[in-house]
Amino acid sequence: MALQVYNTMTRQKEPFETIDPGKVRMYVCGVTVYDDSHIGHALMAITFDVIRRYLEWSGYAVLHAQNFTDVDDKIINRAAQYGMDPLEFSTGYIEKWHEESTALNILPAQVYPRASEEITGMLEMIGGLIEDGHAYQSDNGDVNFDVTSFEGYGKLSHRNLDDLLAGARVAVDPTKRHPMDFVLWKAAKPGEPAWSSPWGPGRPGWHIECSVMASRHLGGQMDIHGGGADLVFPHHENEIAQSESFEESKPFARYWMHNALLQFRGDKMSKSIGNLVSTREIIENGDAGPFRLMVLQTHYRHPLTYTDEGIESARRGYERLVNAVRDAGDLANAQPASIASDLDAAEARFRTAMDDDFNAPVAVSVLFDLARLANQSDGDDRTAAQAKLVELAGVLGLPLQASATRAGDSDAGPFIELLLELRQELRADKQYALADSIRDRLTGLGVIVEDSADGSSWHWSS
Ligand SMILES: [Zn+2]
Repeated sequence: MALQVYNTMTRQKEPFETIDPGKVRMYVCGVTVYDDSHIGHALMAITFDVIRRYLEWSGYAVLHAQNFTDVDDKIINRAAQYGMDPLEFSTGYIEKWHEESTALNILPAQVYPRASEEITGMLEMIGGLIEDGHAYQSDNGDVNFDVTSFEGYGKLSHRNLDDLLAGARVAVDPTKRHPMDFVLWKAAKPGEPAWSSPWGPGRPGWHIECSVMASRHLGGQMDIHGGGADLVFPHHENEIAQSESFEESKPFARYWMHNALLQFRGDKMSKSIGNLVSTREIIENGDAGPFRLMVLQTHYRHPLTYTDEGIESARRGYERLVNAVRDAGDLANAQPASIASDLDAAEARFRTAMDDDFNAPVAVSVLFDLARLANQSDGDDRTAAQAKLVELAGVLGLPLQASATRAGDSDAGPFIELLLELRQELRADKQYALADSIRDRLTGLGVIVEDSADGSSWHWSS
C-alpha cells in the first residue's frame, strides 16, 4: 500500500499525492523566538524531521521551509525588558535553535524565512486583500481581515463562525466589523518597531507572516503544511482564509499535519504552569538520542507524556539498539546472508508502518526485532542484520554508530567542541558528576576526551 497521510482538513487518512510528482513542498510553522526552546518545540521539530527523512528515503525530493516569527508582541515586550533591539534579541534565539537542532540530529531546512525580511510581500498581500474586499482599515489604523468575506472560514477546525464566536467569548471590539476578524497590519505604537505602509507605519500580524513566507518560498501552494496541534485555530485557519482569498491556486495546502502537544504529568507543558523542560537540558544530559526514541514510540497524533521514568526507559532502549551494532564491522559491504529474507521482511514491516501515516511506534519495534536478530546471529548474518538496523534507524534519525557520525566529521566537530566547552564550564562550577557524564556519553559515541594542563582535546576512538 502506498503512503497514506492523515489530513486535519478532512479528518481522515488520504493517499499521498503531491503537486509535482516526486517532489514534496513542506512548510512547518516554526517558533516565535523570544525564549529558550522547550522539549515541546523539540518534539515538533523531531516529528517533522522524521516525516521528511522518510519521504526522502522513499524517493521524494523534499523542499522544507521552516519560518522564524521574529516580529511579535512577545518579542517586543521581552526585548524591551532587556533594553535590547527586538530583532537583535530574536537573532540570539535563532542561533540557539540552530545549535540545538544540530544536537538533536534534525536535518536543516533548505529555507528559514524570517518575518522581518518578508515585509514587502506582506504589504502586497494585504493590499490585494483590501482591493478585493477581504480586508478593511479601521479607525484605529489597524487593517483587519473580514472573516465573513471568506466562505470556507472554519473548515480546518471544523467549526462555523457561530460556534467559534460562542467558544471564544470574544468581547465586542468597535474597531472590528465581525468579532472574529483578525489583524493583518497593526498600526504602530510609540517605541515599537515599525515599517512604513500605505496604511501608515506599523507591523504585520502573525498569520499574514506565514501566508506570505509559505507562498513566496514554496510557490503559492504546498503539499504539506504542518505544526503543533495548537496552531489549527486560529493560526492555520487564518492562514487559509488569507491565502485562499488572495492566491489563484487552491487549496493553499494539500495536507494539513499537526502533532499532538507534549504533556507533562497530565498537564500541557507551559510557562505559566512552570513545568517546562528545556531542550538544552535534554542535550546536556546526553539524551538527544533517547529523547528522539521516546518521541518516536508514541504516534505523532497522540499526546506523549514526558516523565523521568519514560526518559529512563528510552535510555535503556536506545542503549540496546546501540549495543547491537557496537562491534559492527564493515557494514557498507555486508554480504548477502542466509537471513536475507528475514531482513527483507523486517524492512517491509517498517515500510508498511511508516506508510500508514508515519506509524513510528511500529517502525521502532522493527528496529528492536533487528537488534535481537543481530544479537542472535554471527558472521555475515550478524553484519547484514546490523547493516539493516543502522540503515532503518537512520531513516528515523537515530544515529546508532560512531562511524555513522564519523562519515560527517566536519558536521560533528563543532558540536563536540561545544560539549567540551560546556563540560569545562560545569567543572569550573564544581558540577563534576554532570561533567563526567558528558565525557562518558561521548566515549559511548566513540569520542575520546583527553584532559591536559592546556584544556581538553578529543579524537575518534580507533
Ligand atoms: Zn505559521
